[in-house]
Amino acid sequence: MDIEQITGRMRQEILQADRENLISNDFVKALPALRTTGLYRIFKAMPKGRLMHCHIEASFDVHYMLSLAIACDDVYVFLQNETPEYRYCQLAHRGWFEDGVVPAGWEHLRCAVAADPALKDEIYRMCTSGKENIDEDIWPKFEAIFDRFKAINNCRPIFEKLYYKVFMDMAAEGILGVDLRYISQTIFEPDGRRLSDDDYVNILKGIVSKVQQTYPYFHVNIIYSYYKGVPAETVLPRLEYARHLQQKYPDMFIGFDMVGGEDCGKDLAYYSPVLRDASVPIIMHAGETLDPDNRNIEHALDLGIRRLGHGFNLYRFPDVEKRVKAANVMLEVCPISNQLLGYSPDLGRHPAAGYIKRGLNVTINSDDCAIFDTAYITDDLLAAYLCWDLSMADIRRCLENSLQGDASLLDLFHDQWKSFTE
Ligand SMILES: [Zn+2]
Repeated sequence: MDIEQITGRMRQEILQADRENLISNDFVKALPALRTTGLYRIFKAMPKGRLMHCHIEASFDVHYMLSLAIACDDVYVFLQNETPEYRYCQLAHRGWFEDGVVPAGWEHLRCAVAADPALKDEIYRMCTSGKENIDEDIWPKFEAIFDRFKAINNCRPIFEKLYYKVFMDMAAEGILGVDLRYISQTIFEPDGRRLSDDDYVNILKGIVSKVQQTYPYFHVNIIYSYYKGVPAETVLPRLEYARHLQQKYPDMFIGFDMVGGEDCGKDLAYYSPVLRDASVPIIMHAGETLDPDNRNIEHALDLGIRRLGHGFNLYRFPDVEKRVKAANVMLEVCPISNQLLGYSPDLGRHPAAGYIKRGLNVTINSDDCAIFDTAYITDDLLAAYLCWDLSMADIRRCLENSLQGDASLLDLFHDQWKSFTE
């Protein structure tokens, strides 16, 4: 029996047993049961190509972050009602506070967990987001989650441990490398010293070279990112800095993106005059919306982009889809993210099934796997396979799409695929 027959039969059995359509309607809730199946084991062992769409700030192991935080003598937690400054269940290393002085209202994390063992689960819950959180305020709630761990993850020794594990886990999952969206972070030493973006890059490079001792091919690219919804003139200095980073670290910085909710009142046409002369490649989140009038994909194409983050609403504009196909623009599709941010309530009706079948250049990605409590890529690939009636040849093509232009990684992938299917 070949791989298509084996996985096809397993899929049929899984879907037949899923009488309440949980897999389509709330994939993450179906995951614990799916993880016990033979199909999951096959998807876990499958070679993965590169992960093309992943935000560094939301791509770590939350359980591991909590264990590092609890083990550290200098980590505090905010358990009061939210203030304009602090989030409920926000974590922070002492070095993050001005002059190392912990403000009123913050409690020593380890002591707080010792006094209330359920607190660990509560912090975990507040750092993740499921389908039950979807409402009209999903984006502010989603963005608030990032605040809960930024003041601990960016403490340099914790950052180094956390992201060494991220990259090692990615490689162990079969991922050959990753393109990470990165929004400037205040990385700091435990004594409070603030480090620069350049320091951040050098720390990251140090982590990657350590990972390369085990996985020599594993490479990390950075897409320098900023927010949508801001005044256009504030984008210019960020673009300049992106250019500086690209010139200084050409082996790592590959482009510029603007992230965040697209229904923010400012479409890409508003930013186009600034982005048009960027002289740094633009790789743009676009079409992540349910607004039938949102033509951000078209505006992004007008900027000459080669890659689209999501491209979810492309199906609404057949003329634009023709342009995407003709220019072989890559769609970085993120199925579970689209479900958990409310764009695809029924994964079976996700438009990317059609994009793949119509021969578009699709890759499958996880977006913010820490917050969605999912694997780096396995779970999204499995969601696509189970919900979109794809063949394993379709899955393989999506993985190959992530390696375009890299002949040696493509050769490695083909060797891996051969061993996988033998
Ligand atoms: Zn994204």
